[in-house]
Amino acid sequence: MAPENDSLPRILEEIGDCTRCKLHKGRTKLVFGSGNPQTKLVFVGEGPGADEDAQGLPFVGRAGQLLTQMIDGTASKEGIPIQRPDVYICNVVKCRPPENRAPEPDEMQTCGQFLFRQLMAIQPRAICALGSTAAKALLGTKEGVTKLRGKWHKWNGIPLIVTYHPSYLLRAYNVAAKREAWEDLKKVLHYVYD
Ligand code: SF4
Repeated sequence: MAPENDSLPRILEEIGDCTRCKLHKGRTKLVFGSGNPQTKLVFVGEGPGADEDAQGLPFVGRAGQLLTQMIDGTASKEGIPIQRPDVYICNVVKCRPPENRAPEPDEMQTCGQFLFRQLMAIQPRAICALGSTAAKALLGTKEGVTKLRGKWHKWNGIPLIVTYHPSYLLRAYNVAAKREAWEDLKKVLHYVYD
């Protein structure tokens, strides 16, 4: 449960120099989240990679550049006047899993409390879950992205769309998935900003 009058600075302060799960051991910098805290749209990824761990910011590596292109490009094509700094971006776990492995259930559960508090504090109009780890953390489902995407879900009463993680889309053979991700993004951007 989130405390009353919760806020992003308060959550960050409470996380502190966190050692609540084993992921802290390999961490260079904790990656809390970035963007507009008053946003109407939050993107949730899996966890920091090497670039994010070094800089302390989410989605700054190759996958991050693709996410920026996807947000800025889709918004501009659709006539929606927003860019990446207008949304908020964070991850299920705040510290980099070793060898970029997926976060384990105990890590997701321990760190997930902070993600839930971030979402409760921001209260966006919609959430976009990037990849199956984010979908699992927010929807408690074991279904893959292919099954979950293309329709609306809800997290705590907030409409939620699931789409592919940008690092999956970077693989050359995922042309069809790329097209589907643009469709998902269009859907959520129009819902939030029309
Ligand atoms: S991943 Fe989350 S719970 Fe684990 S050490 Fe980092 S901040 Fe703490």
